[in-house]
Amino acid sequence: MGEVKEEYSLFKDVSKVVDLAAVYLDIHPGLLSQIKECNSIYKFHFPLRNDDGTYEVLKGYRVQHSHHKLPVKGGIRYSSFVDEEEVKGLAALMTYKCALVNIPYGGAKGGVSIDPNKYNATQLERITRRYTSELIKKNFIGPAIDVPAPDYGTGAREMSWIVDTYEAFNPNAINAKGCVTGKPLSQHGIDGRTEATGMGVYIGIREAVSVKEDMDVLGLTTGLGGKKVIVQGLGNVGYYAAKYLQEAGATIIGVAEYNGGIFDEGGIDIEALKSFQVKNKGFKGYPKGNFVEESAEMLTYPCDILVPAALENVITEKNASQIQAKIIGEAANGPVTQEAAQILIEKNVLVIPDMYLNAGGVTVSYFEWLKNLSRVSFGKLEKRYDMKKYEALLESIENATGDTFTDEQKDLIVRGASERDLVNSGLEETMVTAYHHMNSVRKSKGIKTLRIAAFTVALERIAVSYLDLGIFP
Ligand code: NAD
Repeated sequence: MGEVKEEYSLFKDVSKVVDLAAVYLDIHPGLLSQIKECNSIYKFHFPLRNDDGTYEVLKGYRVQHSHHKLPVKGGIRYSSFVDEEEVKGLAALMTYKCALVNIPYGGAKGGVSIDPNKYNATQLERITRRYTSELIKKNFIGPAIDVPAPDYGTGAREMSWIVDTYEAFNPNAINAKGCVTGKPLSQHGIDGRTEATGMGVYIGIREAVSVKEDMDVLGLTTGLGGKKVIVQGLGNVGYYAAKYLQEAGATIIGVAEYNGGIFDEGGIDIEALKSFQVKNKGFKGYPKGNFVEESAEMLTYPCDILVPAALENVITEKNASQIQAKIIGEAANGPVTQEAAQILIEKNVLVIPDMYLNAGGVTVSYFEWLKNLSRVSFGKLEKRYDMKKYEALLESIENATGDTFTDEQKDLIVRGASERDLVNSGLEETMVTAYHHMNSVRKSKGIKTLRIAAFTVALERIAVSYLDLGIFP
């Protein structure tokens, strides 16, 4: 009998890392098994009637990985690769991610197994509303239970349809707006959510390259200035990550999309490339740089930082040995497989793990949910009060010293914080604190990789939460 190759499973991959992290902790094996399992898995089918009268039966999922904290939280993915193992893996990652960045949620994830590019907006609306009503039927959505968000193939538009459907079924629920995050601002979203994951990716990479000791090991200087970056996937996360990295002085030399990439050693103008992509549905014909037909090959081009920001399972045992980047920033969920991670350790590549690096999305989603529950935008109550207080303070200093501040200085000090200022401040605080904590745990426990260190931090927090319930010894 020939060797049967086990199918790739993101969930099993995540569970393997949890086991590696558990080695550094003293956790009861029963508790560890409980933490690793998915608490609830909901798989369902629903029909879609097409305009020509034909029907399709679509497959939907919502997996709640851990109920150690409620509500559970995680995005909804529309992709033809969506299957139970993927959704379970992504849900588990959400649990560890939230624990790592100290956001009080359990993890969840949902998806519909469709290629969203094959459907028009009306069909996508029908799919989304039907998917939502299936979740409502089984109590798999609600501000206190399970709060979805955007993920691959979905965005603010889908979140609007979700909240509208949820409110239609729950007209008296005063907290209904908090049933989903990533909503447009007009639908009680939060300023800064769209950019949040990409901004978090930028902050995380910036923090990683700021540590001299770690950069010395890689043979890199500190700081983003002049670092050569290749990004895979110029969607929501990839675009904003590339934009902020470029603004901070990095040179984006390559961008890979599913239908071709652009490579330009001299640097790519991300805004210009994005506008071209929106207009032309790809990079073919972009007037600058070289078009790369087989864009997956760009993952192995020489660069300092590689940012896979599309899908999972793109750096595997097949291409890991050819990777030339010194740092891989996992903006997508699960882009580097466990086998590949082993090869990358031997190649001395620093992998900044997904569960940390793309946590900006859930962090700002948390702020949005808090805003929805409190029904007031951040900064609204104190902004004018703060401005008046600082104006009075500046006036007293001017009177006491006889000096005057310039208008720019006054503006900088007096300007009260807007919702966006507060969101960005909370995001930065979360990402900076989590990076250095995870990195210090890596060093203090002699852990080989940031990923295992991240899981160690997360696992310990989840275990404490269960232990405080008194369920396990
Ligand atoms: P998106 O749909 O906005 O963008 C994904 C991009 O990747 C698209 O432009 C798509 O064309 C491109 N792509 C698809 N297949 C590709 C391929 N084979 N090669 C190159 N490019 C390809 O999705 P997103 O929201 O940016 O999510 C991307 C990843 O980030 C996913 O793994 C998701 O789980 C993760 N993530 C997203 C968020 C968020 O807030 N959106 C938060 C955390 C994690």
